[in-house]
Amino acid sequence: MLIGDILDHKGRNVYSIPPDSTVYEAIALMSEKNIGALLVLDGEEMVGIITERDYRNKVILQGRSSKTTPVKDIMTENVNYVTSKQTVKECMALMTNNKFRHCPVIDDGKLSGIVSIGDLVKAVITEQKIEIDYLKGYITGAYPN
Ligand code: AMP
Repeated sequence: MLIGDILDHKGRNVYSIPPDSTVYEAIALMSEKNIGALLVLDGEEMVGIITERDYRNKVILQGRSSKTTPVKDIMTENVNYVTSKQTVKECMALMTNNKFRHCPVIDDGKLSGIVSIGDLVKAVITEQKIEIDYLKGYITGAYPN
């Protein structure tokens, strides 16, 4: 299964925020959209990623104010990404080895979408269910439709 298959299902919408916005604006947008990460875009250019964890570690625990701290001060600049043609397994390995849960998808230099570890786990479970149903049908002789 490829990352592109997941985007076909979940869509290619990416929520983003400019680097000079405040952290407060970022977490308000995350809350409104019920998501855990935003890409930081300077115009069209991806310059970072900010997640709930950055807010916890770099604002709350460091006693900073979310209303005066700009997103660029706490974002992660070196963003790891995958392409639509990479496999779900490859992406999962990248995320688990580097301990992050959000991964942008970039094709030919253009943003195609974003996947979360939850999207990947859901896709793997669905694929395994189909395989189990097929194997059950094979064992009992009743092939599923
Ligand atoms: P997360 O588990 O996604 O909340 O992210 C944990 C940490 O990794 C935070 O500091 C994020 O800014 C950073 N992070 C999240 N996604 C990525 C990514 N795709 N590439 C690099 N860093 C990331």
